[in-house]
Formats: sequence, structure tokens, C-alpha cells
Amino acid sequence: MQQKWTPAGWRAKPAKHIPTDYPDADALTRVEATLRSYPPLVFAGEARNLKARLADVAAGKAFLLQGGDCAESFKEFHPDNIRDTFRTLMAMSVVLTFAGSKPVVKVGRIAGQFGKPRSEPIETQGGVTLPSYRGDNINGMEFTPEARIPDPERLLKAYGQSAATLNLIRAFANGGYADLHNVHRWMVGFVADSPQGKRYQEIADRISEAVAFMEACGITPQSVPQVRHVDVYTSHEALLLGYEEAMTRVDSTSGEYYDTSAHMLWIGDRTRQPDGAHVEFMRGVKNPIGMKCGPSLEPDELLRLIDILNPNDEPGRLTLIARFGSDKVEQGLPKLARAVVKSGRSVVWSCDPMHGNTLKTGNGFKTRPFDRILSEVRAFMDILTAEGAYPGGVHVEMTGQQVTECLGGAAEVREEGSLQPLSHPLRPAPQWRASARSGVPDRRASARRARQ
Ligand code: PEP
Repeated sequence: MQQKWTPAGWRAKPAKHIPTDYPDADALTRVEATLRSYPPLVFAGEARNLKARLADVAAGKAFLLQGGDCAESFKEFHPDNIRDTFRTLMAMSVVLTFAGSKPVVKVGRIAGQFGKPRSEPIETQGGVTLPSYRGDNINGMEFTPEARIPDPERLLKAYGQSAATLNLIRAFANGGYADLHNVHRWMVGFVADSPQGKRYQEIADRISEAVAFMEACGITPQSVPQVRHVDVYTSHEALLLGYEEAMTRVDSTSGEYYDTSAHMLWIGDRTRQPDGAHVEFMRGVKNPIGMKCGPSLEPDELLRLIDILNPNDEPGRLTLIARFGSDKVEQGLPKLARAVVKSGRSVVWSCDPMHGNTLKTGNGFKTRPFDRILSEVRAFMDILTAEGAYPGGVHVEMTGQQVTECLGGAAEVREEGSLQPLSHPLRPAPQWRASARSGVPDRRASARRARQ
């Protein structure tokens, strides 16, 4: 029998990766009180709609595409960046819909994805050691003692940025930008000349032909508004539970608690302890939730977590996001999939092929070889199918910007094109090297790398 849940109940549990070194605890309490008085970012009814769409995924009738930046930042907050992420999400979803002939549920890793769990709490540069940078909603990226002090005011800024980002996404989704007639415009420019860009153009041509045919049959955006609109949902890792608690409200229509900071929240691989604060918080909010499943997760613990997080076996409530790494997936995933299938529990299985495939290259950069990413996705599909489960989605870090985080792939990005050693996230790189194919130096990549 589970104990009664309250939004603040997590505070009595051990919490990992939540900063405890705010110099002024009262200031943090005041900021959380302010956030409590702010409008919700999403409406509970939207979260319920997403849960229903995810129930379709659990039943094998749809596919989940969840993606966006590793972490958002205050510095890169710009309408073009939001637009390019939106375009990339739309382009990927149209290809997946075309290839799979199934609806694609689109969930952005956006409008709230600021904080990052860090494996190293400290960082040393040139003999100086400081606390690590933990995301723009906690501290600053600059390598100075002042910047690295957690500042609660950053939570208010993150709320404001999330609200503005979500506003633009809603405008794109409903205002005509997502109209299928725009399918050719969704591919970001720098991909256009690659072989994958050409394949995208071919698919886009065929979609345009199908749209023209439908119009000739009288199915137009005027007669069928769905041609012009898409549902795009938001998600982020529920890491800073003080923020999530402040955004949690009782929904007046159902009388249930929803975390209104995003439609979907997920628990990271480093914070999924069954007796920990993050699992305690997430078990009580009614949003659809995700949980990352990495190599250290064993079947018994997974079943225990499923019981805690989805005791009523509600379809669409829980997405298990496998993130093993291409070298560990064969060993780790089959036993988990088998246990869940045997238990008969309803889950969505999704694959995050990014976080288990991060390597440090010879020049000290963190990067991800594209062939490993692809190999993990393929293994995920094969393993789940073999175990009698449905491989229902992907969770990817992606961006509409031209960065060099992943090596290989369509543009054959090479290690020499990478930019800045991770141990020096802010010092200007000794020389700006060609990024991807174009030879254009990509200064944004260094900031991204520092946030990985
Ligand atoms: C992430 O998705 O940003 C992340 C840190 O993932 P994981 O919890 O799987 O390491």
C-alpha cells in the first residue's frame, strides 16, 4: 500500500542531482512561492490528450518522436533556433509517418529542458577547480567562482523563456507553419545537399503530389483543418523538483495533480532510485511520464518502478526510454523487455540512442559516432520485436543548428571538425575548425558541448 502523495512529499526522500548549495535558502523559497503564483505553462487536458496518444503508441498503433536540444540556454534563446528545432521535428516526423504509415506523436525536448545531471560535481581548468556548470536554470557556464554559484532567480528566467518558447511552438503548430504544403520548407538549409537531404526532397515531392491529389478530391485545409494543424507537445527531465513542485496544480476538471511545467516529464537514468525523491514526486502527478533505463537497471527493480509509477496500469502513462549504448544494449535490454512482456504491463518502449553512446575523442571532445547511434536503434528494434514487444519510439537530442556533436552520418562530420575540449568549456578554442561540410565555423557547438 503506497503512502498518501503530496507535491512536497519528495522533500523527505534522498535526492540526487538537486543543488543544495544555494547561498540563500530563503531566496529560493521566495522564488518557488512566486512560481506557484504564475500561470501554468500547459493545461491538464493537453497532458491527458498526450496520454491518450501515447496509449495508441503502447498499443502499436502510433510511433513516438521525442527530440530537441541537449539543454536549452539563455544565450541561445532566439526565435530562429526555436523555429529550426520545430522544422527538424516536423521533417523527421513526416519521414517517419511516410515510412511507417502510422501517426507520429511529436514531443519536443523543449520549453523547459535546462538542468542537467552532471557526473562530475567539479571542474578543473588550469589548476583552478570550481563547481560544475549544471544548466542555465541553476548556475552560469562562465568559468568563474561567481558564475558557478546557484542562483534561484535563474528559475524565474527559465520559466519566462519556457513560456515564450511554448508560445511560438503553439503558433507554428496552429498558425499554418505546420501545413503539409510547407513540407519542402522544413528541411534546414545545411542538410539540403547531403544524400539524406536529397532523399528527404524525394519524400517531400511525393507528399506534395499526394496533397495536390487530395486537394483535387476536395480535401483542402479549408475543408479539413487537420491538414494545417499538428499537435506538438513539450517535455523535459524533471530534475529540479522545487521548480516542478511549484508548477504542480490541482486540475479543476479532474481534481487531480498535474505538473503544468510541460505535458510530459521524465526521470533520468541517474535519479530513478525507487526510494528516491524523483520517483516519489513523479508517482503523484498525472502527466504522462518517461523513465530512462540504462545498463545498471535490473528486471526486478524495473518491475518495482513500474508498480510505483503506474500502479493502475494506465496505457500511455509510462514510457520506458532505453539508453544502453550500442555496446551494452544486447546485454541489458532483452531481460528488461522479457520481464515487462511477462508481467503484461502496458508501457511505451522508446530508444534514446544518444546518452549511452557518448565518447571522449582523442582531442578531449565529447561526441557521438553516428554509426553507434544507428546501431543502437537497430538493435532496439530487433530486440523488442524478438521479445514480442512493440518498439514504439525514439528519444533523440537534435537541433536545427549546424553542430558537430555527432561524427559520421549524412554529412560525414569528422573528429577534426570538432571544436572545443570539454575540459575547457568556455575558453575560446585555439582555432575554429571547419564544422560539418560547409567550412563555416560553428561557435554554438562549444556551448552545446559544455552542456552535455
Ligand atoms: C538527458 O536526457 O539529458 C540525460 C541526461 O539522459 P540520461 O538520464 O539518460 O543520462
